[in-house]
Order: sequence, then C-alpha cells, then structure tokens
Amino acid sequence: MLVRPDYLKSPIEYLKGVGPVKADLFKTELKIFTFADLLYAFPFRHVDRSAITPIRQIRNDGQAVQVRGILSALSFSGTKFQKRIKASIQDQSGVLNLIWFQGSQWLEQSLRPGQEYLAFGNLTGYGYPFTMAHPELDLLSELVRMPGFEPVYNSTEKLNKKGLDSRMRRKLITTLIENLPPGALPETLPDYLVRSMNLCSRAEAIRWIHIPSSRNELERATQRLKFEELFFQQLKLLTTKSFRKKHLKGPVFEKVGTSFNEFFRNHLRFELTEAQKRVIKEIRHDTASGAQMNRLLQGDVGAGKTIVGLMIMLLAIDNEYQACLMAPTEILATQHYASITYALKGLGLPVGLLTGSVKGEKRKELLRLVRQGDIKILIGTHALLEDPVRFHNLGLAIIDEQHRFGVAQRANLWQKNEKISPHILVMTATPIPRTLSMVYYGDLDVSIIDQLPPGRKPVKTMHYNEKSRPQVYQFLKDQIARGRQIYIIYPLIEESEKLDLQDLQNGYEQLLHHFPRPAYQISVLHGRMRPEDKDFEMQQFSRGKTHILVATTVIEVGVDVPNASVMVIENAERFGLSQLHQLRGRVGRGADQSYCLLMTGYKLSKEAKIRLKTMCETTDGFRIAEVDLELRGPGELEGTRQSGGLDFVMVNLVTDLQILDQVQKMVAKIIERDPELIHPSNKLLLEYLHQEELRSPGWSKIS
Ligand code: ADP
Ligand code: MG
Repeated sequence: MLVRPDYLKSPIEYLKGVGPVKADLFKTELKIFTFADLLYAFPFRHVDRSAITPIRQIRNDGQAVQVRGILSALSFSGTKFQKRIKASIQDQSGVLNLIWFQGSQWLEQSLRPGQEYLAFGNLTGYGYPFTMAHPELDLLSELVRMPGFEPVYNSTEKLNKKGLDSRMRRKLITTLIENLPPGALPETLPDYLVRSMNLCSRAEAIRWIHIPSSRNELERATQRLKFEELFFQQLKLLTTKSFRKKHLKGPVFEKVGTSFNEFFRNHLRFELTEAQKRVIKEIRHDTASGAQMNRLLQGDVGAGKTIVGLMIMLLAIDNEYQACLMAPTEILATQHYASITYALKGLGLPVGLLTGSVKGEKRKELLRLVRQGDIKILIGTHALLEDPVRFHNLGLAIIDEQHRFGVAQRANLWQKNEKISPHILVMTATPIPRTLSMVYYGDLDVSIIDQLPPGRKPVKTMHYNEKSRPQVYQFLKDQIARGRQIYIIYPLIEESEKLDLQDLQNGYEQLLHHFPRPAYQISVLHGRMRPEDKDFEMQQFSRGKTHILVATTVIEVGVDVPNASVMVIENAERFGLSQLHQLRGRVGRGADQSYCLLMTGYKLSKEAKIRLKTMCETTDGFRIAEVDLELRGPGELEGTRQSGGLDFVMVNLVTDLQILDQVQKMVAKIIERDPELIHPSNKLLLEYLHQEELRSPGWSKIS
C-alpha cells in the first residue's frame, strides 16, 4: 500500500477544481493554505436535504425546503443593474416560482430549461403557489449521489460572489476526500478506547463530518470528534498535573513559626470559619509535602480568601522564603497592600508594593530589596512578572482573582526562583461549575471555601427603573443618615469609553444636585484617572471621609470597605451576570443589612430580564454561574478564554457537559492505571503529548 503522507500537506491550488483565483481566496479569506487546512475546516452545521417534498404539499414554516421537478425557461425583467430573473419548477403535483434579484451571467449560461432539477431554499409567501428566492439548484443528471445531510461552511459575501460558496466547498472537499490515499488519516485514540466508547474511527469521523450519507453517520462523526477534542485537552491537563506532582520539587514549609503564630494569636480579629480552617490545612499539607503545589482556591465573593492567602504567606516567611501576591488591577494591588500592611502591623515584616506607577529610583530600590530578600512580601500587578523582578528566594506566589490571568502567566511565576519552583495558589472569585472548572483548571488541585463568615445577611437585591429614581435617592439619604456608605457604579465598555465617561459625568452632576455639599461628600473613580488620584479617592472613601463613591467598574474585583452597604448599579442591563455578582459582592461585608439596587431603562432584552431576575432571586455564586453559562456560553465566561487555550472547534461546553463527564472519568482511569503512559496500548497518547510539548514547549514542563 502506497502511503503518501505528504498528500495533506499539498498546497491548496493543487486540488482539482481550485484555480489560482480560488486558491487566493482560500488563503486570504479563510486562511486555508493546504489540503489539510481544508479538511480540518469543519462545517459549522448541516442541512437535511434528504427529503424531497411534492410541490403541492410544501408549507412555509420558515424552514428551507427541497423539491424536484422540471425547470422552465428563464424570463428577464428590469434594467442592467436591477435585473431580475424568474423561472419556475414543476413536478406532477404543482408549480413553484423561482426568483433571482441579481442578474448573473453564470446563471444564465449554466441553467438548462427543460431538465430535471433539485431546488433547495427558503420560501416567500404564505399560500400556493410559493416563491423560492435564490434557490440552490442541482441538475439531477449531474449529481453523483442524492444529497443527504449537506455541510454548510463558513463563508463571506466575497467568497459567495466569486463562486466559492458552501456548494463549491462541498464539491472540493468531496474531491479531496475521495482521493485521500489510504492511511492518510491515522487513528489517534488507542484501540481499547475506540472500542469501549463505541466510537467510529478518526478517518470515518472526518469523512462523515463533511459528507455524511445518513443522520447516523453525522451523529457518530460529531460524537467522535467532540470526544477526541475534550479527551486530549483533559489528558494534557491531567498528565501535566500528575507529572508535576511526581517530579517537581517545591519548597518545604515544615515549621509553623513566629510570624504565623503571632498573627494567629494577636492580630486576627475574628474566628476563622470551618471552611477557612479546612482549606488552610489542605494547603499546609501540600506545602509540607516536598512537591510543588499548584492549587486553585475557589470561593464565592466575600468568603474570605484573602486571609487564607495571607496566612500561607506567613508560613512561607517562617520557613525563610519570600512570598508574592499578584492582583489584576492597580487599585486592587494597592488595597491589598494597605490592608496587609495594616494587618501585619507590629510584626516587623517588610512588605513592598510594585505597580506600574512605582518608577525611577523608588523602583530600583524596591527591586534591590526584593532581590536581597529584605522584602518578605511583595504585592503588585502584572509588573511582578517582568524580567527585572528577581527574588532572593521566592517560595510562594499567590494570584488573586485568576480570571484575568492566563496559564502562561502562571507558568511565568515559576521562573522567579531559579533554584526551585515556588508554590502557586490561585484564588478565583468567579465560581464555576465543577465539570467546567476541570476544563479550565484541570491541572490544579482545588480547595473550596463553601461557607461565608458568620453574621452575614444576604444582600437584598431590587430592580428599579427611572420612574423610581426619586425614591431610590431618598433611600440612599436614609442609609447615609444611618452612617452607611454607598457605591454607585456605571458601566465601562471599552469601545465606547468616551460615552460611558459621559454617563458617569452626567450621573455625577445629577448626584451633586441631589446630594449637595457639604452635607454629602462624593468621591469619583474611573479608569482614566492618574493612579495617585485614584488611590486618593479610594482612600477617602475607605476611611469614611466620603459618603458616596461614584465609579466605573474599576472597583469590580476585590475592593473591601465593610461599612459600604449599598451598591447602586446604573444601566444594570449592560452588565453580564458574573460582573453583577462581583459588584454586589462589594457589599454585605459588615454586620448591617446590605442592598443592591439595579437601575435600568424601560426597554430590556429577554436575556437582560433573566439576568436581573436571577440577581434578585439568588446570591449563590454557583447558581449564578450556571445561569450565566446557559445565557452566554462558556467562551464568554469572563476572561476564561485565554486562561486555558480553549478554542474548541466541535465542543460546546454548555450542551456537551455529558460528554465532558464521560471524558473526565475515562482520562482519570487511564492515568490511574498507567500514570506514565508507558503501556504499549497507550503509545498513541504518549506520542500526542510529546508532540504537544514540541509545539509549545515549557508550559506543561514535561520533557
Ligand atoms: P474574598 O473571598 O471575596 O476575597 P475577602 O477576603 O475580601 O473576600 O473577605 C471579605 C471580608 O470578610 C473582609 O472584610 C474580611 O476581613 C472578612 N472576613 C474574612 N474571613 C472572616 C471570618 N472568618 N470572620 C469574619 N470576617 C471575615
Ligand atoms: Mg478577594
């Protein structure tokens, strides 16, 4: 058997039927350069063209229909530029009108009146006779086979115009597939998996996804491709995890020393929750084991993750290591710095803050202290990842609010200690369902704080529109009279930053009018301000010097002012669910009853209504995450896209959770039985991982 592995590598212009013009279109419009590119550009849906309806029986229910009959002569009307072409098609039961709103030489020349055609398309009109505009016509005598489930490919207007439409794609892909040399699509899954999961072969799957001859083939192909996609993603994450556990040494935090104990006895102003204690225990176990820890700490907003992080940092210090804490925004880093310095007062532990606005000599000096090991805890933004930042002996890196950082950035932190990889603790405030967290964070161990500190009253959430604004303002005044503080948040969407700033400005002026000085003091905070001004305004508010903080979503994550008990969200319909939940999490931190008021316009989309309703009904982050997932799909889950390199082609994480579940069980079993994948039956899997490592070396640290 002659195997030509280079067949799929052939340049696309070598495919029969692809001339220079089409080849050019393929490259520029679709980034398809080779046979393989064309083969792996799967259709995004299929249309069922297996049914042919007698013309008299067709109904217009919005679905495309297919009929079979004799084409009449074409008639032309209109001038050159507004030419219309009409025709009809007739079977034994009746007649269907056909119409084209644009002249086309190609059409005029290629159609053959009097011959039998299949016509497929959407109908206009509501009673017999119907009209079909721009039908897809196939000359029956030229059809190689009767259509079944026809693939539909991504296309653009330009492509359609130049004749490279879905139909042409089908023709080309058929040519390609029919000429595939044997062995061109080797199996990638071990035989025992294919059999036990009852999957079709990879070659079949790829053939059938393009040209299935039945619904069954299409389903089998889809099933196989989805399984495979999830399988390799999970395999990569889970083997990375087990590999690291076995082979990557981490600093050993064996003793609990003075910093930890002193803090625990004399500085902690509250009793830890059971959940916090349990998580600290889990982390202590990890960090004493000798292996490098990679752990995800999940917990709803306000669950008290920061204190857990802080105590682990003290543990690191007790064992002669440095620790760092990386936050997604400058505001948050600054806040962490302030609250951690405050919490550690008297312990004599030098804490540093490194953000983009620490510059010049100050920066140099700070970096020097960090390098010498004089700074024990370094808090900062992405700036921590930059090259000049060198530690004396970094033992622990905490990443707060993970959803803004990616896998690659996490890996970057490892390099910060040349001798040994520091422990990594990722704290996320976006709860996600378990199955999904396996997709995003499958390489991490997970700890969950599933309990809020005692005495928290659930935040009362209400939805209002403009009509109620006077009452809302009155309510705010009452709350201020009771000593409470208030956030008022405006949306900030990047494309219309100016417009949003305008909203904020208008809102601020309106507020000044209703809440006049000096009785009321208002702070303003938005992304365009200089960092020191932001910092000042934030301080004014957190020290209780101002009553109201008007802000764009810069305060979205992490900000902690327990006395602030009312959150007003303007244009709430423009926020996503998880964002709303995050924002609401800024209140309800003290002992007082807290409120979240969602202000919207009158016109609301269906989805906006669901979001608002969900917010009013529940404060459970996991429930909210589920609704969010249903509404938006996982690709939109805030910032998670870049965090796992997740560009699924076939898989839809919302609808394919069941396959995911199967896959996870399967992968876990395989790794348990054969952790190093050295058994001959797993040869293909090992090969896959090695190839991946060649493709993007380093991130998995498997070599
Ligand atoms: P998040 O998990 O959202 O990061 P934080 O760590 O900011 O939450 O904690 C929220 C608030 O709860 C802070 O004011 C913190 O001091 C307080 N807190 C944390 N743990 C406890 C506890 N066990 N008892 C009482 N208050 C706590
Ligand atoms: Mg936090």
